[in-house]
Amino acid sequence: MSTSEQGWVQIVGIGPGDEALVTPQVQAALAEATDAVGYIPYMERVAANPNLTLHSSDNRVEIDRSRHALEMASEGKRVVVVSSGDPGVFAMAAAVFEAVEHGEAAWRDLDIRVLPGITAMLAASAACGAPLGHDFCAINLSDNLKPWELIDKRLRLAAEADFAMAFYNPRSKSRPEGFEKALKTLKDTCSDNRPMIFARNVSRPDQTIKIVPLQDTTPDMADMRTVVLLGSSQTRIITRDGAPIVYTPRSVAG
Ligand code: SAH
Repeated sequence: MSTSEQGWVQIVGIGPGDEALVTPQVQAALAEATDAVGYIPYMERVAANPNLTLHSSDNRVEIDRSRHALEMASEGKRVVVVSSGDPGVFAMAAAVFEAVEHGEAAWRDLDIRVLPGITAMLAASAACGAPLGHDFCAINLSDNLKPWELIDKRLRLAAEADFAMAFYNPRSKSRPEGFEKALKTLKDTCSDNRPMIFARNVSRPDQTIKIVPLQDTTPDMADMRTVVLLGSSQTRIITRDGAPIVYTPRSVAG
């Protein structure tokens, strides 16, 4: 990795929580950086380092945060932009590129890299088996950045196409009704009683995994620390004395 005076931006994913799930590549970027920008709770997970200046900011200021990172890199600083999970999944990488597209021409010449991380749905899937073992899709249930009608359409079409699904940002205090509507749509469109998995604080000491038949789910089962997975019509549960295993077979009969 470059150690020259040239500034850079590395948009890093610090995984779902467990230190052991931060990649060595991301650890190296954090060790080389002069400045870090990110949402306050994610920045709390960046180890204190006297050579690293932290610029924590509130949620919903992603473009401002991106512009700040690009400005600092233009001044020769080595800047990490911190996301939880993977930075390309409902996170900062797209925000930085949006800022580049609409920002100063010189930003296009900057050294900008995206370092992947383990996204919540994959850590959740691993924690309960392999529910995403066949075709699946990921949907952000927050309607902060898109209209609810579009979310509803995507839920219906994903159900029709028989995808397994992963839902991010399922239910926040400011919009508790969204997940209730999503569950209603899914219960109406999925005729069977496939498993829904509520994976909360995945990979952290207080991780919980609840597997509930779709028709028995209630909105209060999810919050913003939960990623929700829904099996396809093919998804199976292996019951055993310990925790059950949920998996979706590799093949579908023609
Ligand atoms: N870039 C992140 C997602 C950011 S959106 C990633 O790739 O994981 C924030 C949402 O991610 C949360 O509302 C929740 O749905 C999910 N999430 C992130 N970390 C999680 C964890 N440790 N356990 C469960 N869900 C998590």
